[in-house]
Amino acid sequence: MLLGAIIIAAGVTLYWRYVGNVLELDLKRHVASAGEEAADDFDRLMFADLQTLRSVARAAENFSPWEDSARMSRFLRVQTQHNAFQFLGIVLLDGRVFLSHNAELAPAFTSGILAETMEKGVYMSSSLLKNPQDGKDVLVEGVLLRREDRPVGVLFAFLPAERFEPMLKLAALGDRGFSLVVRRDGTVVLGKEIPAGSSAFVLLERAAFTDKGDSLTSIRRGMRSGNHALVDYRLDGSRQFLHLMPLSINDWYMFSILPTAFVEQQARRLAWTSLALVAFILLVFFGLICCLFRVRSVSNRRLFATAFIDPLTGAANFNSMCEDFSEKLAGMGGKAALVVFDIVKFKVINDLHGYERGNKVLQRVADVLRENMRPGEFFCRSTADNFIMLLSYEDRRKFRTRLILLAAQIRRDCTVAGSCLLLDAAFGVYEITEDIPFYIMLDRTHLALDNAKRMSGDKIQFYDEADLRRIVAEKQIENSMEEALERGDFSVYLQPKCDFSTGRMVGAEALVRWNKGDAGLVRPDDFIPIFEKNGFILRLDMFILEQVVSLLAQWKERGLKQVPIAVNFSRLHLNDSRYIPQMTRLVDKYGVPHNLIEVELTENVIFNNRECAQNVIRGLHRKGFSVAMDDFGSGYSSLNVLKNLQFDGIKLDKEFLDGFEENANAKKVIEGAVDMIKSLGVKVIAEGVETKEQADFLRATGCDVAQGYLFSKPMDVEAFESWLKKLD
Ligand code: C2E
Ligand code: CA
Ligand code: CA
Repeated sequence: MLLGAIIIAAGVTLYWRYVGNVLELDLKRHVASAGEEAADDFDRLMFADLQTLRSVARAAENFSPWEDSARMSRFLRVQTQHNAFQFLGIVLLDGRVFLSHNAELAPAFTSGILAETMEKGVYMSSSLLKNPQDGKDVLVEGVLLRREDRPVGVLFAFLPAERFEPMLKLAALGDRGFSLVVRRDGTVVLGKEIPAGSSAFVLLERAAFTDKGDSLTSIRRGMRSGNHALVDYRLDGSRQFLHLMPLSINDWYMFSILPTAFVEQQARRLAWTSLALVAFILLVFFGLICCLFRVRSVSNRRLFATAFIDPLTGAANFNSMCEDFSEKLAGMGGKAALVVFDIVKFKVINDLHGYERGNKVLQRVADVLRENMRPGEFFCRSTADNFIMLLSYEDRRKFRTRLILLAAQIRRDCTVAGSCLLLDAAFGVYEITEDIPFYIMLDRTHLALDNAKRMSGDKIQFYDEADLRRIVAEKQIENSMEEALERGDFSVYLQPKCDFSTGRMVGAEALVRWNKGDAGLVRPDDFIPIFEKNGFILRLDMFILEQVVSLLAQWKERGLKQVPIAVNFSRLHLNDSRYIPQMTRLVDKYGVPHNLIEVELTENVIFNNRECAQNVIRGLHRKGFSVAMDDFGSGYSSLNVLKNLQFDGIKLDKEFLDGFEENANAKKVIEGAVDMIKSLGVKVIAEGVETKEQADFLRATGCDVAQGYLFSKPMDVEAFESWLKKLD
């Protein structure tokens, strides 16, 4: 800005000087040409008058009555009426004088004219004379009169001084200057401002010449040589230009003087006008630039808003967090934690109350966060219901308390009015202890968040190395699963299902095992959740099914009894239209009767996709497979669901039985549930039966089938086959 102002000021100064110089040059040119014009006009007029006088002389020479003075006088008087001469006179060598008008002329005057004209051929008075008739200033001109080619006298005329006045006004310069006819000695011959007879040099003696080379002496010298000149000087505080030019008459010079006051004034006006113009242009220019900047800053702001602000909550967005993270962290002075949180089951809020209410909830959550931010802290909405916060951190206990209070405030302030769904926030926390990239920190908070979501109570989880180890283990599992399947590392274990009343084995459940060589057998809980995440479970389930039907086929061949086998299928199959055809094809490939295969679907699968589950159950029934609900009582199932879904069997979850011995109410619930299930004509299977008490109680409630360690643990095929052999 300052630089701009300096540049503009310098530009204006230079421009001012430039305008001044241009104007001065222009002015000098004008003064010179006006001076020349005045001199030319003067010369031309003088010459014209001389010519007129000569023609009068020619007429006089031819006019005969030289002896008749009265006629001569009349002749001359008549001549004055046809030209500018006021007075004409003839002086003859013989001393006779004829005048156009009566006047007393000194003999010395007439003889002087005669002598000079005879000598030079023409006469011009070197200064103003007085017209004896009226006393007015005149110049006197004279030409020779000849007879038979010999000079006989002089014809002279009075030219009124006022005749030259127009030439002295310097009309070309708008009458602002004036001219003088000056003799070389400086005496003014003709002039208005400076009276005739006074010295023009007196004026110049007081002048301060602008150009160092100029001086009165140099002017005089120049005039002696008949030079032109243009000088400028200051006189009485004002600047003047003087143009000197020799005239063709006598030793006369034409002095043209122009006081520059008006020119300077004009120059100033011009400069001011152009300055005002420049200022105006600059103003318009700056105005335009300002407009441009405004437009740019508005569009920048808009761009910034779209790039860095979450339109729903007005909070910063993820880009903004990425952009500012390092700077914000540096500003926190070392102790900080990165927190990611989301609202547990936020999707349900959207489903139950609509997106608009869901959005309102998110806006309120953002408000609560905003309220809770301390100086230097920062938060953003990352996606949907996911928020990231950079908070100051003292110790784990205090930090936990802060998050618990925050969760409580969110629950209180953000829950949809009248909704039974309380907002529950889950927090993943990474205490920043290492200088690692933001995205790795974020990964760690997400890891902790995943764990937090699985917690009951306060869902706050701090990242620790164990999480990382778990992730690494998961990765290893994912990396080796394909190979394991090809190598046949997955195998089937079978757990017998026994009839409660007879104790006889009536079937079995197929449970997968991963044989990891030296590491031993790995239970499905360690890998099935991972396979459900990456979809590999779809292939594994089909593999297990194939193992099962292949066993059934072998047993038939070997004359062993074919008992119905239950196979677990992941919820992922429900959304796969190829599921039933694929399964049917596989079972048929081994020629196994469909009724020997029982499909187990877990309870929460059914709850979440009731319609879908219903279709799949119907489809399976059509193909002759039976379907059981697994883990009944572990989740949200209501007994109501059961009557709409045509299950062949319901497996009571292990946890359902936990602690029933001490709790009379639990017993009643189990009894009621079994009663109701049985009233629907559905078989009840009790799972995880470990004790005799449990078995006795369940038997008493009317449960049909038992499965559990009390009867048998899951076993390998060989062991199971020896069980089969015991069946008759
Ligand atoms: P699940 O279907 O509920 O299977 C019963 C689980 O309870 C089995 O664990 C079994 O070993 C265990 N169990 C049986 N009796 C008792 C008992 O008296 N006491 C106790 N404490 N546990 C008992 P497992 O084999 O570890 O399987 C765990 C879960 O893995 C299964 O639960 C099932 O949901 C899943 N799973 C197993 N195999 C497959 C499979 O091939 N495909 C799919 N999708 N899931 C499978
Ligand atoms: Ca099962
Ligand atoms: Ca189960």
